[in-house]
Amino acid sequence: MSDINIASIKEEIAKSVAEAKTREELEALRVKYLGRKGALADITQTLSTMAPEQRPEFGRQINEFKKEVLDIFSRKEKDLGSAGAREAVSFVDIGMPGIAQEIGRMHPLTQIIKEICTIFSRLGFIIVEGPEIETEENNFTGLNIPLDHPSRDAFDTFYLKDKKLLLRSHTSPVQIRTMKSRKPPLAVVVPGRVYRPDALDASHSFMFHQIEGFLVDKNIKFSDLKGTLEMFAKSVFGKDIKMRFRPHFFPFTEPSAEVDISCIICKGKGCSVCGRKGWLEVLGSGMIHPNVFKHVGYDPDKYTGFAFGMGVERIAMLKYGINDIRLFYENDLRFLKQF
Ligand SMILES: [Zn+2]
Repeated sequence: MSDINIASIKEEIAKSVAEAKTREELEALRVKYLGRKGALADITQTLSTMAPEQRPEFGRQINEFKKEVLDIFSRKEKDLGSAGAREAVSFVDIGMPGIAQEIGRMHPLTQIIKEICTIFSRLGFIIVEGPEIETEENNFTGLNIPLDHPSRDAFDTFYLKDKKLLLRSHTSPVQIRTMKSRKPPLAVVVPGRVYRPDALDASHSFMFHQIEGFLVDKNIKFSDLKGTLEMFAKSVFGKDIKMRFRPHFFPFTEPSAEVDISCIICKGKGCSVCGRKGWLEVLGSGMIHPNVFKHVGYDPDKYTGFAFGMGVERIAMLKYGINDIRLFYENDLRFLKQF
């Protein structure tokens, strides 16, 4: 029998292999024990020095040893293999530049809508929204715009296949909806999208945004309207602006007025933005017409109220000095990133 103790070598290999932490370490052990100058080669070498009668038994031991050692290595290889895969998944190169996360922001129109609604909320107005597909009654007749009224031309709009339904041409139908479902006192602002058959150019769009506001109670006077709008205009455009009310016609208010502010560019001296007039038109307003109250079942002798409506795009264009309405809808980040 050889003085080589196969059992203790196997034990040593098992121990070393168990301690190996990487494929490289395992590979080094494979060379050390199973390579051309490794332990297995040494053992096999001794076979030739043995007496012939001892060789078969020792040969059998060597074969068994070889099989067991190969098993030890292949089991370890599997272990390291799955661990290696896990390592690859969680591998993080801390020297690599990160993926930049762009911080989003609100669209300038959304910002203006929020700002305006907040101003009126502070005065106790509630925010109500309505559908963009409206009935002819809510959009026109309920607002004292009869079928044959010439003012209807200006807002005539997109009708659906069912001729009684249309895309609303203003946010005013929400006045009708709200007044029909609630009783005064009411103080409401209505932001939303509206539609008109206008061709797209620098100052017109077939779709734009409005904010409507109305207040109904006993003893509401034109001075209440004036005070409310002055507070609004100064909050949005600055304390130094002046306001003026110009008589105007709207079917759903009487009396009606268009409201101008002193030009924020030239401070009233006259410039190209205000067309040398020194004034900028910002909204329409008036005292709610008694016919509107009659339509919703309010007693016009008991209640009075005011209403106003403004184009959100127009307010945003004046506030930020934007000269083309189309910029709001093109989603060009070079534009949107400025707000
Ligand atoms: Zn001006």
